[in-house]
Amino acid sequence: MKLQFLGAAGTVTGSKYLVETDNRKILVDCGLYQGVKHYRLMNRQPLPVSYDELDAIVLTHAHLDHSGYLPLLVKEGFTGPVYATPGTCELCKILLPDSGFLQEEDARHAAKHGYSKHNPPHPLYTEQDALRALKQLKPCSFGQIHKILPDLSIRFRPAGHILGAASIEVFDGSHMLAFSGDVGRPDDLIMYPPESLKRADYLVVESTYGDRIHEEMDAAEAMAKAINETAAAGGTVLIPAFAVGRAQMILHLLERLRAENRIPKLPVYLNSPMAIKATEVFHRFHEKHRLTKDDCRKIDSMTHYVRTVEESMALANQTFPGIIVSASGMASGGRVLHHLKHILPNHRNTVMFVGYQAMGTRGEKLVSGATSIKIHGQNIPVKARIKHFDAFSAHADSSQIIQWLGSIKTPPKQVFVTHGETEAAQAMAEKIQIELGWKTCIPKLTDKAELQ
Ligand SMILES: [Zn+2]
Repeated sequence: MKLQFLGAAGTVTGSKYLVETDNRKILVDCGLYQGVKHYRLMNRQPLPVSYDELDAIVLTHAHLDHSGYLPLLVKEGFTGPVYATPGTCELCKILLPDSGFLQEEDARHAAKHGYSKHNPPHPLYTEQDALRALKQLKPCSFGQIHKILPDLSIRFRPAGHILGAASIEVFDGSHMLAFSGDVGRPDDLIMYPPESLKRADYLVVESTYGDRIHEEMDAAEAMAKAINETAAAGGTVLIPAFAVGRAQMILHLLERLRAENRIPKLPVYLNSPMAIKATEVFHRFHEKHRLTKDDCRKIDSMTHYVRTVEESMALANQTFPGIIVSASGMASGGRVLHHLKHILPNHRNTVMFVGYQAMGTRGEKLVSGATSIKIHGQNIPVKARIKHFDAFSAHADSSQIIQWLGSIKTPPKQVFVTHGETEAAQAMAEKIQIELGWKTCIPKLTDKAELQ
């Protein structure tokens, strides 16, 4: 087998790995670059492999930095199968068309304000392209070996992280190449712990938190404290959260804190059409996560689901205290921006970030102490309190990754450390060398490796 790194090299987004055998090519993950402009522009550069050379695509999970490039390949002409777990397929049905819609919005916005290089500006892909891509999804259950090509089989193992998320093993008959995907934490509130890999001759491992250990703190208590202080000041708490996974976890936590009388019974709003749809998918996949039917019912009865644009506008202008959960999680787009414009200039309010904040995003700037922030072309002063609870992240920290890798008994011939900013990948690689004694390297974009 040959392996080529076509994304998530030196950064956390754009995951794409080309696996080649003598006469076949598959892509493991097909993700968009997100975050700073330099990376987003890379979505427009052609891949070194053309759509018609690819026999299949395999997805670790539905997050757009792992799946969001798929509609573009389909638009270009890729007609092959896309293998993913049933949970991932369901979530892709929500995330990909929305991504197409947002690409169209961006192009319209660029046309109106005249800042695109293309005239007229054209979207990376459209909602229609994304809907077409969905038809190529082939759901594959966890745990079984799926023969996808004459000389290649794959197996999905639960990786925690989000609903449907998997680590993927690829066999060519003699070697096994494993991809960690995004690895969840063993103590996640709503996902089960990641299942460990038993064997990997070669391994690609993520390093989002490669240089960090999640704070040992009672995150629920810290969150309750911040909510109580904000409520006492008559303010509103805004929680930007990833629509899939984190939003559901935060609602579950809020429901528990309310039931235990640890926070006041302020109204709780979920203002993200995508998060509302994702919550419905959670209700359908009970055996795949820790939330029971009863937990889901309690979330439903606590939460005001904000569906229409009119309701969303009314909520943004509301002045009495409440808790608003809205997407996107890094404040890079979506309805949360309208809330930030109203929430940030008032010192009574609190904005609570609960997940990873990629470099260059508004979320990263806010948690790093920015005193003003640009939203829709306006400079918004930051007077509200900004909190960041890494403890709610959906990614394992470096020690949890080491622990997860520990069950592989025979050392892999080579470990490729990807999906991390440079320092994080470096720290993760060193930790694997020192604690497990395995050979590691940090591939650069378009690097190729022969796996023998
Ligand atoms: Zn992810």
